[in-house]
Amino acid sequence: MINYYLKLLAFRLSPLLVGLGINRMLSFFMGGRGHILMFHRVVPNDCRKRIHNHLSLEITPEKLEEIIVFFINRKYDIISLDQVEDYRKGIKKFVVFTFDDGYKDNLDFAYPIFKKFNCPFAIYIQNSFPNGNAFVWWYLLEELLLREDFIRIKTDTFEFFQNTKTDRLKEIAFFTIREAINNGSLPLVKFGEILAEKGMDWKEISKQYSLSWNEIRTLCNDRLVTIGAHTISHIALKSLTNEDAYREIKGSKDELELILEKKIPHFAYPFGSRKEVGKRDVQLVSQIGFETAVTTVLGNLKKHEESSQLPRITVNALTSLSVLKMQLSGLYALLDNGLKGYKI
Ligand SMILES: [Zn+2]
Repeated sequence: MINYYLKLLAFRLSPLLVGLGINRMLSFFMGGRGHILMFHRVVPNDCRKRIHNHLSLEITPEKLEEIIVFFINRKYDIISLDQVEDYRKGIKKFVVFTFDDGYKDNLDFAYPIFKKFNCPFAIYIQNSFPNGNAFVWWYLLEELLLREDFIRIKTDTFEFFQNTKTDRLKEIAFFTIREAINNGSLPLVKFGEILAEKGMDWKEISKQYSLSWNEIRTLCNDRLVTIGAHTISHIALKSLTNEDAYREIKGSKDELELILEKKIPHFAYPFGSRKEVGKRDVQLVSQIGFETAVTTVLGNLKKHEESSQLPRITVNALTSLSVLKMQLSGLYALLDNGLKGYKI
């Protein structure tokens, strides 16, 4: 808890810390050899109303460009996942851009930017996206709340009747319903029925958010793009039996390799923190034959990091350049992980 408040304070103070040059000093000790950045979606700002929480999954095309230029100006090599192991042994500073899940906007908005700068990047695909079985309920809940001025949900274990006229009430409703879905008191099947009553076809809408197999094939055929695996259905691996965890990891690799006719040596753990990934899962990923696997544990890459649990740095709409600089310095990772280091 103390770490949480320290980190919050460090975020607030990031412009001051950067102004004092603290980041450059810390980078010398904790900056590591390079960084793997984690993104999810690239979405233009169309000025329509949004639910604030989703900003943590998104970045605008302009901001993505700004971050690429930031690294180019600082003489970083922007490299692909295939080059990480070699670069970790070298002395040249490097950065890898990775996108999780396989959102369609990665093709529409991220891809043209990486083409423009001739920079490599990676997308970790959760197979349920192109297979059309994903339920992006967090975006459907947002659409529902933005459309409706009153929400009425009643199940055996969850009851919600609320006016959702104002932005603030929509935000509160979002967090209450999200919590009910996450803790199981509002089953997804029931939420799907509620959406259907409002004329929202969750399967069709979810598909609009996802890359199709054809689109993934197009991306995969470009030498700038690395496709990685991210399990079949994006469930927290730690909660699964040995057999189910194996099926989720191996199944995603096998299906990607079959459809894309390419070896898939890179993996990202769903959710990726110590709460959702266990030591068993790290062993499974190595046994199955992945050459690298990334977590969402915050950190920079050092020479001796285990390649089956590489830390990353989250970048989203809320990441200012001063916060990014402090993340690269290693301070926030130290506050997050303490002396545990980056291991799961
Ligand atoms: Zn994911």
